[in-house]
Amino acid sequence: MTSEVIRCTECRTEIAPGLLSCPSCARLVHSAELTDLARQAEDAQRNGNWTRALTAWRQAVQYLPPGTRQRDAAEAKVRELSGRVDTGGGKKSEPWWKRASALGPVGIVAALLGKAKFLLLGFTKMGTLLSFMAGLSVYWALWGWKFALCFLLSIYVHEMGHVAALQRFGIPATAPTFIPGFGAFVRLKQHPATDREDARVGLAGPVWGLGAALFALALYAATGNPLWAGVARAGAWLNLFNLIPIWQLDGSRGIRSLNRLQIWMLALLTAAMWMVTEDGMLVLVALVMAFRASTKRESPEPDWSGFIEFAGLIVTLSLLCLIPLPTKP
Ligand SMILES: [Zn+2]
Ligand SMILES: [Zn+2]
Repeated sequence: MTSEVIRCTECRTEIAPGLLSCPSCARLVHSAELTDLARQAEDAQRNGNWTRALTAWRQAVQYLPPGTRQRDAAEAKVRELSGRVDTGGGKKSEPWWKRASALGPVGIVAALLGKAKFLLLGFTKMGTLLSFMAGLSVYWALWGWKFALCFLLSIYVHEMGHVAALQRFGIPATAPTFIPGFGAFVRLKQHPATDREDARVGLAGPVWGLGAALFALALYAATGNPLWAGVARAGAWLNLFNLIPIWQLDGSRGIRSLNRLQIWMLALLTAAMWMVTEDGMLVLVALVMAFRASTKRESPEPDWSGFIEFAGLIVTLSLLCLIPLPTKP
């Protein structure tokens, strides 16, 4: 511990640790960092790199005292840039596959461990968990550690989807704590600035998780090994579970940017998919969705790209639950 006293560079008043401005003359404690961040943001914006500009502005917000005009202005800037990142305005940054291949597998894992986030929360408290565990134990008994490993990998991919979205929006997060078999626990250090941002980050996990399930399905088609059918189906199931719009689950974030009509449409779509697949998880998703639709405070602008993303996830993940499972390997 250091006992060094910080004094205002302007009026020499002693400044308690944690304060963002001088209590006497209101000079900003981190003015040097803020100047630097402003320059970074300006450079990034000139190059059309909205993600980097957004990241710099988010850091600036943390240095500005709440309730000040500068803070309000910085937050407004964050919202504006977030919208640009969302709509892909000024697509000058490299496409993701180029960036991913530049990182390499080690880099991707490092990025994952360094920046990942989110837990499959509420997992411990639900009857669904029990049915899910029952299903899971069947696969486990059938295919043993190989299944466990591949399933865990598909959860990693889901988490990486959140990581990628967080990085895209420059949202700082704590390092993750992985819970073997179930997911990862990460806390955001800053709230998403807009409902759409929150929705994109939330749905990015299931989108990547869907990718992992489709990959497993392709391997099943290529090899005929029932292990891959099990991985695809269990992965689809887990991602559907995460789309239940409750607590901190991804689905709850996903509906944040939607209006009531859109959430009702999702509830009906889910019910329709249940009639097709008869998967019990969909009943749960549909019921909670209908509840959320009826209690939602109306939001002004319907977010149609968010709606299409959510609807697409429900349809494709439900269809993946139709994969027939051989009873004996
Ligand atoms: Zn001062
Ligand atoms: Zn997730």
